[in-house]
Amino acid sequence: MASVNFANVSKTYDGTVSVVDNLNLDVREGEFLSMLGPSGSGKTTCLMMLAGFETATSGEIFLDGRPINRVAPQRRNIGMVFQNYALFPHMTVAENLAFPLQVRNISKADTAEKVKRALDMVELPHLGNRRPAQLSGGQQQRVAVARALVFDPKLVLMDEPLGALDKQLREQMQYEIKRIHERLGVTIVYVTHDQAEALTMSDTIAVFNFGKIQQLAKPDAVYETPSNSFVAQFIGENNVLPGTVTERDGDVCRVRIDNGDVLSALAVTKAAVGGATLLSLRPERIVVEPATEGPGQTVVGGEVVDQVYVGDHSRIQVRVFGKHEFVVKVQNASLRRTFRKGEPIRLGWQVGDCRALDEASGCGREAA
Ligand code: ADP
Ligand code: MG
Repeated sequence: MASVNFANVSKTYDGTVSVVDNLNLDVREGEFLSMLGPSGSGKTTCLMMLAGFETATSGEIFLDGRPINRVAPQRRNIGMVFQNYALFPHMTVAENLAFPLQVRNISKADTAEKVKRALDMVELPHLGNRRPAQLSGGQQQRVAVARALVFDPKLVLMDEPLGALDKQLREQMQYEIKRIHERLGVTIVYVTHDQAEALTMSDTIAVFNFGKIQQLAKPDAVYETPSNSFVAQFIGENNVLPGTVTERDGDVCRVRIDNGDVLSALAVTKAAVGGATLLSLRPERIVVEPATEGPGQTVVGGEVVDQVYVGDHSRIQVRVFGKHEFVVKVQNASLRRTFRKGEPIRLGWQVGDCRALDEASGCGREAA
């Protein structure tokens, strides 16, 4: 197990744009940390600097407390799995797994034992003699995981390792990698742009945008208590309403929407009275036709735009506050009826579920 520390690490490729911008991050021993963010947010660059294939423009990276900026990649003893980090096609699976051991001068007997153990770990004990081309995509990816772990590295880096797999296989592999991590206790830094993947697998998620960590927290916290509008919008679905702070009272603030209505919300924003904010509200936190109207609750009227059946739940689009549209997710088990287009509807939520965040919007995604 290894610990990692990025200390004031910046990286620019062209001398102007910092694709990693003064990054400070601790990864604990045995932790599964995911770097999650849109394409171009600097995740791969961070991993490449940690692996030693890119150098930091400034700052220092520490592995187990030792600075590694000047340590060659092969001497860092880090396992790696990348989406396009292909297996050697001319070697069998067993030979692929033996390779990292041979370059480390492990004895033949130990190599055979470790290769066998690695194949068992990814549940492919019978496929050692196949060549990569004779394996399915999922099997190849499991071999790649085994190859990254076969030499007992203390740290394993994975960069979108499941990106090429179809949805079902990807989800299965997510649980498999998670189980392997739990069993071995190895430190894993995992890069993905897939929020469901990061939520499923990680102990901790570092949400990236523009080379900066936007929030560093456990999966439930980045989803339930996003600390800014970017995180709220990048992870999961989110209803937003722009407004102006009119009053502040401890944790709660009052926000005027553009149609003149005033709502109470949890004051996460740093904006003072008079400042702009974006209210953020998860679709599943909204109740349709709430039975009671109590303290700490907000109830508003709206008009149904559409209702879509999605198997386990329904999505109801509702026009609120004049020109804004909310999506409401209701479990079908608790939905008593279908709403007609244009029908009036009441929506309710807890004040604490409506978060007043910074006014910045948008995902900072690179133009494709
Ligand atoms: P991510 O993995 O989050 O998609 P990257 O770290 O790959 O992000 O890229 C961050 C930014 O750095 C992007 O704008 C990308 O175009 C740029 N970049 C990445 N690698 C290089 C490189 N080798 N040379 C120049 N620019 C690069
Ligand atoms: Mg990348």
